[in-house]
Amino acid sequence: MAPEKTRAVVQTGPRKMEMRDFPLPDIDEDSGLLRIEACGICGSDAEQYAGILPVPMPVIPGHEPLGIIERIGDRAAKRWGVDVGDRVAVETLIPCGHCGDCIGGHYNVCRARGPLFGHAYVPITTAPSIWGAYADYMYLDPHSIVHPISKKLSPELAVMFNPLGAGFRWGVEIPETGPGDTVLIMGPGQRGLTSVIAARAAGADKIIVTGLTSDAKKFELAKPFGANHTIDVQEEDIIKRVHELTDGRGADVIIEVSANAPEPVADALFCAATRGRIVIAGVKGRKAVPNFISDLIVGKELKIMGALGVTSKGYRSAIRLIEAGTVPLMDMHTHNFPLEQAELAIQTLSGEAEGESSVHSCLIPDMVL
Ligand SMILES: [Zn+2]
Ligand SMILES: [Zn+2]
Repeated sequence: MAPEKTRAVVQTGPRKMEMRDFPLPDIDEDSGLLRIEACGICGSDAEQYAGILPVPMPVIPGHEPLGIIERIGDRAAKRWGVDVGDRVAVETLIPCGHCGDCIGGHYNVCRARGPLFGHAYVPITTAPSIWGAYADYMYLDPHSIVHPISKKLSPELAVMFNPLGAGFRWGVEIPETGPGDTVLIMGPGQRGLTSVIAARAAGADKIIVTGLTSDAKKFELAKPFGANHTIDVQEEDIIKRVHELTDGRGADVIIEVSANAPEPVADALFCAATRGRIVIAGVKGRKAVPNFISDLIVGKELKIMGALGVTSKGYRSAIRLIEAGTVPLMDMHTHNFPLEQAELAIQTLSGEAEGESSVHSCLIPDMVL
């Protein structure tokens, strides 16, 4: 029988979540309805949960959706090239499709429908309410972007399209990483590790990953994913060590994906080779960077670039790599949680849950407790 309503986790305020039921909306010619199989838990979910991310509430979180098309309009089916029963990965952002940024190919910075318009960022007061993937079902807007992905993969593996897409866009596309490049990845979390995988796939020469003493387990993952060296910045002098490992040259490409700590941004300038490219993707809670010496940017002709979100090219590279099965991605997967444990899932990722440490985790809505 066709379902009539969906469960969804609603965030009503900072650190406040509750389960509610919503009626399933009617689908017109251009929209669709997704049955969620899995939703990735992301570092920014923790920021949204804490109220640091400027998201209007009440809202259904969950911006890394993987699912099966339950209903779809004829025109949407044609435009998206998918039909009922197909598995799709859904992009977070829902662009307007018409503004200067969208037309110019930079739809990830589209602001035409609001400052941050996408799955998990539209409040339930905007019809049809079910915009986020912490739910059994999610609405697909006419401008949602979907990518078909193999049904042979487990949901927890397929849902890695999102962090791996970030690895490709931040670690390869933006800095144009290629053969011969030495790549320094600052921060060994989900995004750092997927940047290792992407840089390795792009043919990088040497890959170095930095982290803290408590990141020992993540360092162990970095090696089979393609890292040549790891640096514990609490035990070693990062600038000295990077120069030792690069015959005094420094790194050609630096991906800064550490969370909340601004210091690595200053270190990056010292660690970069001349004409190095530095991508900054880790947010720092609006903290200023101490010891930021801009003369290094001038003297070495450094290029510093920000990275916000992922676009289709990165997602497609990620999906191809996941489907190829050439990298042991599941080694990174640590937890599945049912919908009822969404808060625990976030707390586990952010390190608040006693004795648990998470690298990649996801919600599986129909998982039995
Ligand atoms: Zn995310
Ligand atoms: Zn736009």
